[in-house]
Order: sequence, then structure tokens, then C-alpha cells
Amino acid sequence: MTRVVPMDPQHPDPEVIARAAEILRRGGLVAFPTETVYGLGANGLDPNALARLFEAKGRPATDPVILHIADLDALPLLAREIPPAAWTLARRFWPGPLTMVLPKQPVVPDLATAGLPTVAIRMPAHPVALALIRAAGVPIAAPSANRFGHTSPTTAQHVLEDLEGRIDMILDAGPAPIGVESTVVDLTRPVPTILRPGGLPREDLEETLGPVAVFDRSLTGPAPAPGMLPKHYAPRAEMVVLIGPGDWIRLRLRELATRYLQEGYRVGLLIAEEDRPAVADLPAEIATLGSERDLAGIARRLYPAMRDLDARGLDLILARDFGTQGLGLAIRDRLVRAAGGRVMRAEDSP
Ligand code: AMP
Ligand code: MG
Repeated sequence: MTRVVPMDPQHPDPEVIARAAEILRRGGLVAFPTETVYGLGANGLDPNALARLFEAKGRPATDPVILHIADLDALPLLAREIPPAAWTLARRFWPGPLTMVLPKQPVVPDLATAGLPTVAIRMPAHPVALALIRAAGVPIAAPSANRFGHTSPTTAQHVLEDLEGRIDMILDAGPAPIGVESTVVDLTRPVPTILRPGGLPREDLEETLGPVAVFDRSLTGPAPAPGMLPKHYAPRAEMVVLIGPGDWIRLRLRELATRYLQEGYRVGLLIAEEDRPAVADLPAEIATLGSERDLAGIARRLYPAMRDLDARGLDLILARDFGTQGLGLAIRDRLVRAAGGRVMRAEDSP
């Protein structure tokens, strides 16, 4: 049985928080809102609780989880050899959508780090998340509260769709305000490296750290071969991402949608408000993410729109890219992964 408990996002009820924290301390699983997406929480220091967490998600043990803390004092308990840059980032961006990878303390179980000598740590900004972590009194492992490989959840309803009956409780405080996962930065490398772009833009990190590297080549380099990237954050329909100038994207959207519709495919379009006039007359299923100039809005609506399109039984989704500035980088990463690496770029086409 999975209990769903409504909560005020700004003023979480201490009694409910205490009950949820007790479940976590006893090795149970509680899904809760963070400012990025909904997380599935487990006691991050308890190997049995972690095993349950991986089991509930269907997540392979080779995929390390992020440990969530509510106070800076917890950082040196979990990480060692913390460089000055990590403290600077923590003071500037925590609580917030930034995860830091640092050498781990022995107390961190191997299951949390997939056997790696490093651990990923974040202090989330959502009042419900902070209250829960504080009440639990332990670091909380919290990957996204979905079945492994499915689209990440930004509402309690999404969590229920994936995990009903597999977890103990869901704290429902409405939609997650950012809508994409945290930025993961590895501080154990000679140059700080973004392993996963996310809710904290690269530009903000660089203001503090100077130049940072971005690990995933698919974001900036040439198109990867199809199937090279792991399919993740994924809808059921085949997806293709169009990367290029707005006019090229609109032309291609129309041309590709027309061709596949003629072949009898059910086609979905994941687009910006500005693209709508170019395709409005086509019998395609359209999900609009908002204006291409409002990247925060695009990020917030991205996963719900992917779920929405997915529910319509489509064969093909054509999605448009939003560049690499600010949140654009995280949006592209999620789109390209959802598409399993299938991208079409303006510079590669005639
Ligand atoms: P999720 O829990 O689904 O938000 O994903 C956690 C992200 O953090 C994944 O991209 C992991 O690969 C990354 N991560 C967690 N721990 C580590 C680590 N020790 N080293 C490198 N990446 C990590
Ligand atoms: Mg995830």
C-alpha cells in the first residue's frame, strides 16, 4: 500500500514529516518533492534500505545515487578531501539544484556509490525535502521517483503511476518548480566537470569556478551514432530531436511530420509556441512547451509534456531543441537521451 499525503509546499505539517521520517529511519521508502523533480527517498547509510530503493525503481546497481543533506555540517561526514571550490559552491548554490561529486567517507555504503570511491551530494531547496531530511537525521538517497528509464516525475501523480504499491508513502506538495534534475559536477577532476547538466546553469558555475568542462559530447559535438547514448528519461514512442536555427526547425518539423503522417504514422510534436503556426494544420498531436525565450517554463513543462504525448499512443515524436544557453543545455540533454541519441542537425543536412 502506498499512501499519498497532501502537503503545503511552503509549510509542511511537522506531524506528517515526523511520520515520513520514521518510515525512512526504519528502512522504508518515501517519495517527496524537491525543487528539481520528485525523489524516491531511502536512508542513504542503510544498505538494506538502498537495496529496497534499487529494487523498487528497477535501477541497476551500477548506477550511483545522490545523497541529500539539509545542513552544511553533514558534508564532511560524507565526503573527504573537500576542496575550497566545493565549499564556495556549497555556500553560493545550496540549497539548490547542484550536486557535487567528491571522494567518499568510509561510512557511505558501496551500494550508494556503485562501488565508486566518490559520492554525489546535494542540499535540495524544497521546504518539504529539507524538513524531511532534517527530521530523518540521516542523509537521504533520492534518485528520481520513477521506474528506471521512464520519464522523470514532476508531480505526485507521476510517482503513483510508476511506483504505486512498491513504496510506502508519497508526499504530495504540487508540481516540482524547476522540472529537470540537478546539475552534477565532478570536483575530483583537474578541471571541474559537469557530468549531467541540470537546474543550475553552466554559466552560474563558471562565474564561481572559471571554465568548467562538460562530459557529454553529444551536447556540443557531432551527432552520435544512433543507439550510442543510453535511452533514459524516455517516452515509449520513437523520438527524434531537431537541432538548428528556428526557421530550419520549423521547416523540417513540417516536412518530416507531413511525410510520416502520409505513411500512416501517429506523429507527436514537442515544440515551442513559436513553432505552432508552421504545423497547426497538420493532423499531428501537438504538445507546446511555451515560448522558446522562456527556458525555465520549457524545463518545467518538459517531462509532463513527454508523459502527455506518451499517453496518446504515438509512433513517432519530433522534438525541437532550445540551444545550449542556460537551462537549454539540460533541456537538450534530456531530449537527446529520451530520443536515444537520434538527432538531426541543420549543419548535417543539405
Ligand atoms: P538520479 O539519481 O537519477 O538523479 O541520477 C544521479 C546522477 O548522479 C547520475 O547521473 C549519476 O551517474 C550521477 N552520480 C551519482 N553518484 C556519482 C558518482 N559517485 N560519480 C559520478 N556520478 C555520480
Ligand atoms: Mg533518474
